[in-house]
Amino acid sequence: MSKPRVGIFGLTGCAGDQLVILNCEDRLLDIVALIDVRDFLMASSENDAACPLDVALVEGAVASRRDAERLRAIRNRAKTLVALGTCAVWGGVAAMDRGADRRKLLEEVYGEAGLRYDAAPTQALHEVVKVDLNITGCPIEKDQFLAAIAHLLAGNTPIYPAYPVCTECRMLENNCLLIERGELCCGPITAAGCNARCPNLRIPCVGCRGPVADANASSLLATLEEKGLDRQRIAARLATFAPEGVAQRS
Ligand code: SF4
Ligand code: SF4
Repeated sequence: MSKPRVGIFGLTGCAGDQLVILNCEDRLLDIVALIDVRDFLMASSENDAACPLDVALVEGAVASRRDAERLRAIRNRAKTLVALGTCAVWGGVAAMDRGADRRKLLEEVYGEAGLRYDAAPTQALHEVVKVDLNITGCPIEKDQFLAAIAHLLAGNTPIYPAYPVCTECRMLENNCLLIERGELCCGPITAAGCNARCPNLRIPCVGCRGPVADANASSLLATLEEKGLDRQRIAARLATFAPEGVAQRS
């Protein structure tokens, strides 16, 4: 039986999710024994940029017309398209200013030359094409990526935690930074899967994995205001990684 053909791509982002894949190190040989990686520019200079793919893994957000065209071309090649990382799933930090006047932003940063740049308000992949699976994280968790590959090979859809970071944090028996110290922790509305990495180190969660499915941002906002935190600061923190996602769940 032929191995599934896979492509791994990056749009606008930091390439951190592709690095996580390359950092699978001891598992990489197992992975390439099972799949046929045909197009992965970060890892290989010999790529087939046109072949049909069984699975396309795409990291980064859509922040230009070029990104959108590339994404549509990838979608046309792939049976299954996986959004890899918070930028791909939610728009990420690049989407923070998507409501702002882009022309003005470009001019302020780059002067007149900015007006010639191909830059558009940032979108998540699902806003441009159909996405079959989301693996969130900034960057993604290695174990969740490996689980996704195993499930896709078996013809299944992986199931990721549907609960917030707080659940993992409390299972680790941490004292709560929000309730006990009044710190701006986004754990209650953020998708679990990182094993509460930050609060476990006594650092508040900044919500880098994007909102959990049943996030109640307005309730968190009320609790934070009760603790005396400034509304603007809270709103900015909640909107850092997934502004639309948080707004939808408020
Ligand atoms: S410290 Fe943060 S993540 Fe942990 S329980 Fe409190 S609010 Fe939730
Ligand atoms: S605790 Fe929050 S900020 Fe830290 S890795 Fe997890 S989701 Fe990201």
